[in-house]
Amino acid sequence: MQCRTTTPALTPVRAIEFFQGTLNATTEFDTARVFDTTLRDGEQSPRTSFSYEDKRDIAAVLDEMGTHVIEAGFPVNSDAEFEAVSDIAKYTDSTTCGLARVVDKDIEAAIDSGVEMIHVFVSTSDVQIEDSMHATRDQVKQRAIDSVRRVKEAGVECMFSPMDATRTDEDFLIEMVEAVTEAGTDWINVPDTCGVATPRRFYDMIQTIGEHTTARIDVHTHDDFGLATANALSGIEAGAHQAQVSVNGIGERAGNAAYEEFVMAVESVYQADTGIDTTRITELSKLVEARSDMPVPANKPVVGQNAFSHESGIHAAGVIENSDTFEPGVMTPEMVGATRELVLGKHTGVNAVRQHLVEAGFDPTESQVRAVTRKVKDRGAEKERVTASTLFEFARDIGIPTVEETEEVKA
Ligand code: MN
Repeated sequence: MQCRTTTPALTPVRAIEFFQGTLNATTEFDTARVFDTTLRDGEQSPRTSFSYEDKRDIAAVLDEMGTHVIEAGFPVNSDAEFEAVSDIAKYTDSTTCGLARVVDKDIEAAIDSGVEMIHVFVSTSDVQIEDSMHATRDQVKQRAIDSVRRVKEAGVECMFSPMDATRTDEDFLIEMVEAVTEAGTDWINVPDTCGVATPRRFYDMIQTIGEHTTARIDVHTHDDFGLATANALSGIEAGAHQAQVSVNGIGERAGNAAYEEFVMAVESVYQADTGIDTTRITELSKLVEARSDMPVPANKPVVGQNAFSHESGIHAAGVIENSDTFEPGVMTPEMVGATRELVLGKHTGVNAVRQHLVEAGFDPTESQVRAVTRKVKDRGAEKERVTASTLFEFARDIGIPTVEETEEVKA
C-alpha cells in the first residue's frame, strides 16, 4: 500500500546540501546543457511511434521545464513528421532541432521546417561506411563538409555527428572533426552509437576532440552495457557542454542516457546547474511512458515506482526518523515531483505499521501495533499485496480504536 509522507513542492527544490563522504568533492563542472532526443532517437525504440499530438504534448512539457534543445524529429520522414517538427519549432522557446542525413533532400526539408538547429550526421566507422553507407571515407568527409556549409548558408545553427564515433579510427575521426569545424559547424556531437564506451575512455576521447575543434561539444550515449548516463556525465567532466538524453531512457535497442538520471545526477550529485525545473520530472516520465507504450520498470532510477519506496523494517524506521538515512540525501521525492512511500509487506517493521495506523486515524497500543505487524508480515510472506483496506481490516479484527473512539471513552 501507499503511505504518502511527502507532498509535491510548490516551487522547485534545488541543490539540497548534504556534504558527507564522497559528496564532499563536487567541483568537476558548474553547468550542463540538456538536449532531449525523446522525440527522435526515443521514437526509434522498436515498436514506438508518436502521433502529432504526442509530439506536441511532450515537447510542451520539455519546453516549460527549460530543456535547452528539443530534437523534434526527422523532417524528411513524412508530411506528418514535417508538420510536427515545424509546429514545435514555432510554439516552443527551447531550441528545436531537426535531424538530417548528409543528403540534399534531408537538409532542404530540415531548413524548410523552420527549426533553429539542424543535426547532420554521417557514419564514420569503417564497418558502417562499408556495410551501411556503401561509401568511402573520402566521400563521407566531402558530404559532411558540403552539408555543414549548406546549413550555415541557410543561417541555421549546425550540429554535426560523426556517427559511431567510438568505433571510428581515431586519426580519421580527428580529420572529420577538423574538416567540419573548418566548414563552420557550431556543435560537434560525439555519438557512442552502439554503446561501447566506458567512462574513462570516453573522457579521454572528448578531451582529445576538444583539442581539435573550436565548436561546442555534445555527447550522445547508448545504454547497451548500462553505461549511458555514466558515459554522458564523463563527457561533461571532460569538457562537453551538453548531453543528449531521452525521457525514461527510451531509444534504439537498450536506449539512451535517461533525461531524469542525467539531470538529477548533475543537480544533486555534482551540485551543478542544468536550469531545468526538476519538479516536473515525474509528470514528464508518466506522459512519455503512456505515449511511448514503454513501461517504466519499478526499479528505474528517479522515476521508477520504487525509487522512493521503502519496505524493510530498518530502512522504513530510519526514513520515518530522517529520510536522509536511506535515501541519497541530495535527492528527495519533492525535487522530482514524486511522493515517498512506505510499502507494507514481508519485510515491514513496527514503525511503518504504526505510522500507517496513526495516519489513518487509529490510536493503537504498542502490543496492537505488534499484532498488526505480525499479520502484515504473514500476508506479505504469502506473496500477497498488503493494501490500505487489508491494514484496516487487520486493525478492526484486533479491535484497535480510532482517535475519536479513544476520546469518547476518555470523555
Ligand atoms: Mn542514437
